[in-house]
Order: sequence, then structure tokens, then C-alpha cells
Amino acid sequence: MKKLLITFCLVLLCPLFSPGWGFFGHKTINQIAVYALPRPMQEFYYRHMNQIVQLSTAPDMRRNEDPNEAPKHYIDMDHYGDNPFGMMPKEWEKATAKYTADTLRKYGTVPWVVMDVKENLTEAFRQRDTAAIIRLSADLGHYVADAYVPLHTTINYDGQLTNQEGMHSLWESKLPERHLAEYKLDSESADYLKDPLRSIWDVVQNSYGFLGATFDLEEAVSRKFTPETKYTFSHKYGKTRRAYSDAFADAYHKEVGGMVAIRIKQAPTMVASMWLTAWQDAGKPDLDQMMGKKFTKGEREKLATELKAWKKNELVDKELVIAMQKEKAVEKADVIKSAEDMQPMPADASAPAAPAPALTPAPQAAPATTVEKSKVKAKDEDGKKIKEKRKKKGDKADKADDGWN
Ligand SMILES: [Zn+2]
Repeated sequence: MKKLLITFCLVLLCPLFSPGWGFFGHKTINQIAVYALPRPMQEFYYRHMNQIVQLSTAPDMRRNEDPNEAPKHYIDMDHYGDNPFGMMPKEWEKATAKYTADTLRKYGTVPWVVMDVKENLTEAFRQRDTAAIIRLSADLGHYVADAYVPLHTTINYDGQLTNQEGMHSLWESKLPERHLAEYKLDSESADYLKDPLRSIWDVVQNSYGFLGATFDLEEAVSRKFTPETKYTFSHKYGKTRRAYSDAFADAYHKEVGGMVAIRIKQAPTMVASMWLTAWQDAGKPDLDQMMGKKFTKGEREKLATELKAWKKNELVDKELVIAMQKEKAVEKADVIKSAEDMQPMPADASAPAAPAPALTPAPQAAPATTVEKSKVKAKDEDGKKIKEKRKKKGDKADKADDGWN
């Protein structure tokens, strides 16, 4: 109990960094991916949609127990020089031959993890293993979504090297949390991916291309703010926490909101396409047969309603976004009154905790040349410290992350 309380306190002191899209983002991306599937897969996935949504954050929760988990969620491309996409071989074997597996693991492996999980999902389809299909689909949705977040492609992942600390959760949590209703969530339908490795690398490269604007626009917007208006400060347990203010977030969103919106819209299509590719590569097993109980008339009507709302971009208006429904309950549960009232925090009031998926911004940013802020000049030693810090922060934040964070 004491240990739990200590953990809880740490969580409170360090809740600003989140390791991927906030829980909100990950859940929403996995939900919309179900709508983007073709018919032969859709009823099966819809039957299990709640699970796939809730499990979307499981990989982030695993970071608490597994020290090897964290690097699976990102890839710090700027570590590999000024032309990292030209330098980095796409295949794991060739990349390890060039840089060693240790280096790759140190700076993140998300594109290869996507491929591994996709292969495992293909095998689960071959085996007709429903539980594994659900679990691996949720995992795959998470890692694909993380690749859509620009800040998952740089060593300066939180703006910590350019005095812009806090950008990670600002971009992937606070912005979509405050502005989701303005986004178009009617993502494109899934397509079979002839070369999924190339597809996921394209996603990473697009994310990287957004970094310049992500950092530069923060600086530009900051000129209109004073430190007092840019940040909010809160004091808890003798520590001061700094976070971006709502006013700053809204002003920044006017500049980069298009990017966030585009990445949130694109990610579900890629998630669904990866699911579809795994299923097709497994020989298109009959998922209806695997459902046991037939899809009911009620389920069919509910799905039809949701698909209609999705296509008309009315999911938020019609209160059909699952993450938003859960979020309300979680917020209430997490109100903290005083130290004596503290209860060990529920990992997630509703479900097996899993991290949120990441959404990516629109491709307006120029490529590598504008990525000044992401070019980390830190020496190896610094990089190591940053990594350790990141890991620690991530671990703590994971437990605090019940929704958008
Ligand atoms: Zn993640």
C-alpha cells in the first residue's frame, strides 16, 4: 500500500509527459480504424471494437514492467545525421549491419516493431486465434499511431533541448483534447499494402517533415505571450510544475492544428490497412465463422448508425467517440482532494490500461532542412541521460495517463 502511494505521488509530480498519443488519441484511432475496414472484416472487428479500443493503450502500460518496451514507440531519426532517411536502410537486417542492433534499440525501433506485430497478427489469423487477433490488432494500432506523431521521430521529443519542454503532451494530448470537434474524422477506407515496410517508413518520414514547423511555430506564437500568459504554474508537494496555458495551446493550435488534424485523420486508415494486409496475407480466413454467435440485427443497425456518423463526420456531435465517453468517468475518479484522501490510482477505470495512439500532423512542413530544432547536438553522453530521463518520465506518466495525457 505504501509503495502504491509513493508511486501515486510520483505520478502526480510528473504527469506532463506522455509516451504517445494521449490515451484519447490512441483509442479514437483504433475505433475509427474499425470503420475504415472492408466488409468481410468489419463485423468481426466491430463485435470486438470496445476491446480493441481499450487495449489500444496496452503497449504504453507495458513500459512500466518491461524496460525493452519504450524504444518500440519511437525512432529518433535525427540521431542518424542530416539525411537520416537516405542513410538508414529500411530492412532490419541491413540496418543492424550498418548501425548495430544496440544502437537501433537505443534510438527507437517503431517501424520494425510495426512489421513484427503485423507478422504476428498474420499468424494469429492463420491460426484462427480470436484472442490473439484482438490483442495484436490493438497493439498494431498503437505502434502505427505512434509513428504518426512528429515528436516520436526526434531526440528532442519534448522540446527539452530547446527550452520548449512540455511540447510532447501539448501536441499529442492537449491540442486534440481541446479541438477534436473541429477535426474531420472521416478517414479514407483501408487498402491492401503491397509493401507495408515502405508504407510505415513513409509515415515516419512524413512525421519527421512536420518537426520544423512544430518547433518553429511554437517559437513564433511564444512571441505574442509573456511567461505569465504562456504557462500555468502549479505547486504540489513542494514542487512547481510548468505547463502550457490553455490560451497558448489555442493560439498554437491555430498554427499547427491542421497538422494534428491530418495525422489523426490519416492514422486510422493505415491501422486498418495493416489489419487488412495481415488478414489477406493469412489467406483471408472467414471471420464470420469465427464469431460464434452471428452478428445480430441490433449490432448491424448500431454499426450502420456509426458508419453513417463517421462518413458525415458526426461522431463527436453524436457522442459516439468511445474515448470521450470513458474520459468523463475517469476524470471524476481522479479528482484529488488532499493527501489523506489519496487512493491508489486506477490504471484506467474502464479497461486494461493501454497507451494512446499517436496522430500525425499535416504534411505542410518542409523536409529535413527545416528540422533545425530536432537536430540534436547533444553528445552521446547527453543523449544517454535524455534517454534515461525519458524512460523514467514515461514510466511515471504511463500510470497517470488515464486519458488524453
Ligand atoms: Zn506509445
